[in-house]
Amino acid sequence: MIVFDLLCDQGHRFEGWFGSAREFASQRRRGLVGCPSCGSSKVKRVPSATRFSTRTELKNPPVPQKAQPDPQLAGRDPLQLAQVLYSRMLDEILTKTEDVGTEFPAEARRIHYDEAPARAIRGQATQEEHDALVDEGIPVARFPLPPTGRLN
Ligand SMILES: [Zn+2]
Repeated sequence: MIVFDLLCDQGHRFEGWFGSAREFASQRRRGLVGCPSCGSSKVKRVPSATRFSTRTELKNPPVPQKAQPDPQLAGRDPLQLAQVLYSRMLDEILTKTEDVGTEFPAEARRIHYDEAPARAIRGQATQEEHDALVDEGIPVARFPLPPTGRLN
């Protein structure tokens, strides 16, 4: 099924569902596509509503936002790019999580079982502790520490 935005000769806009563009053309030719508001079968396809501004907006057309090239990312090779993105992700994690250190497994459990306030935390866990949390259905994610040790 495809949906077409349609406009009748009285200016009514509506949607029509068709099996294919060919089916729409065939139905339209036979006058089977009628406007639900006035019944006119003089209809035509118009650009999809998502790409179509209303009349008031057209007086002040929005200036298309040009994507600014990110100066930190422009012209870098893929490896550098990955490093920049990775360090940004780490920054994101660091600013939005609370460091609970080696208390991490216990605190993650307390949060999971509503014994501690729900919040994003980070910390250390051994492989066994990590596996145990996963086994209990507690959502945890592992991130390798950067070699520079900038987490501390
Ligand atoms: Zn109409």
